[in-house]
Amino acid sequence: MAYYNEKIETMPKDELSKLQYQELKKLVTRLYDSSAFYHKKMDETGVKPADITSITDITKLPFMKKTDLRDNYPDGLVCVPHEDLVRYHVSSGTTGKPTVVAYTQNDIDLWSECVARSLVSCGVGKKDVLQVCYGYGLFTGGLGLHYGGEKVGATVIPASTGNSERQIELIQDLKTTAIACTPSYFIHLIDVAKRMGVDFNKDTLLRTAVLGAEPWTDAMRRYIYAESGVTAHNIFGTSEISGPMFTDCSELNGMHICGDIAYTEIIDPKTGEQLPPGEKGELTITVLKKEAIPMIRYRIGDITSIIEGDCACGRTSPRIDRLQGRVDDMLIIRGINVFPSAIEHALLKNPYLTSHFMIEVFRTGPLDDMLVKVELKPDAMTDSINGLMEMQMRTERALRDALNVSAKIELCPPNSLPRFEGKAKRVIDHRVI
Ligand code: AMP
Ligand code: ZN
Repeated sequence: MAYYNEKIETMPKDELSKLQYQELKKLVTRLYDSSAFYHKKMDETGVKPADITSITDITKLPFMKKTDLRDNYPDGLVCVPHEDLVRYHVSSGTTGKPTVVAYTQNDIDLWSECVARSLVSCGVGKKDVLQVCYGYGLFTGGLGLHYGGEKVGATVIPASTGNSERQIELIQDLKTTAIACTPSYFIHLIDVAKRMGVDFNKDTLLRTAVLGAEPWTDAMRRYIYAESGVTAHNIFGTSEISGPMFTDCSELNGMHICGDIAYTEIIDPKTGEQLPPGEKGELTITVLKKEAIPMIRYRIGDITSIIEGDCACGRTSPRIDRLQGRVDDMLIIRGINVFPSAIEHALLKNPYLTSHFMIEVFRTGPLDDMLVKVELKPDAMTDSINGLMEMQMRTERALRDALNVSAKIELCPPNSLPRFEGKAKRVIDHRVI
């Protein structure tokens, strides 16, 4: 059984709880003394660092949400001198403003350590050639897997996204053994390889895939294995907690959340009460050692549960089940977060469009497609086909710039889309995942 950091990963649970308490106490004391944001939030909740006397006291602390980052855009939550920052990443937010995440060198090291442990738990090590086909750039996927891969000593290919035939050539020529990308993109690669006459099982050394950034299922895992001979592992993370970090192990039964790095809670999204293992609720994570933008009781918005019982792999950190939906209306299109509110925000920048819009999401092939229907204002109606086509293209470009993902736009006549008396149902998701 291989571990990256055996002592920590197999630490007895009571020792792990003690360590978590010590880290939480240090974190809360530091933030109460040095950050106006956390000081105010804790005062409002009526809790002081002295009230934290065990890890279970974490429930006394206030929650954080994505809106805290948005409201403090771009760097109001940074808790270290700016000269100590070594990197920013940016993710899509709930409205026009994105979420900015900042890192110190220690933050990058901790994130990489976590990815390294996770890769080893997926069976990826020094002898592997790891092709990273997540986006390199503001998205955390590419660089996150890259640094973790180098840390375990694998040979990393920073292939990034797109150019699928070239990806297959790289897999063959550079003898790739492991790949990291979204599950839908991997299924697309299997199709492209078949068209090129390449059988992953017979013609390549590819045996492991580390797939995440969007929802997928065990049925997809079985399909991938049957079609390619590749064992697919699930990886989860969000930019706010650093990026992709936690994977399932050789048991393929839940993702281990490295306990010395992050503390996991599942809460009732309505009451905020902590729920016991086995019960489904909103995933809430405290990153115990983050420096630049610490996240305490961060409500991630994904629904899952903590898996009961010990894992046969010997790791003692808790495991979370596959993510089973969101508490908010966030869509994930080709691995990118898309909030309907952000679409509305981008559409309304165009004075000829209204706030009456509908989003339809399809998955006809392996990849997602999004159609946005939006009503024109009466004075924007024109008989000129050229005028309409130009407006459509302009709106598609504006959405792509705002969301980082492409959508088809359908311009609709005034009063043609459904109206809702209660909460508007703006999204029709046709995908069967
Ligand atoms: P981002 O902050 O852009 O990295 O997006 C993080 C979000 O992507 C998470 O909160 C999840 O909703 C989604 N996500 C990431 N990994 C997975 C996964 N393995 N399964 C399902 N959803 C995921
Ligand atoms: Zn395990």
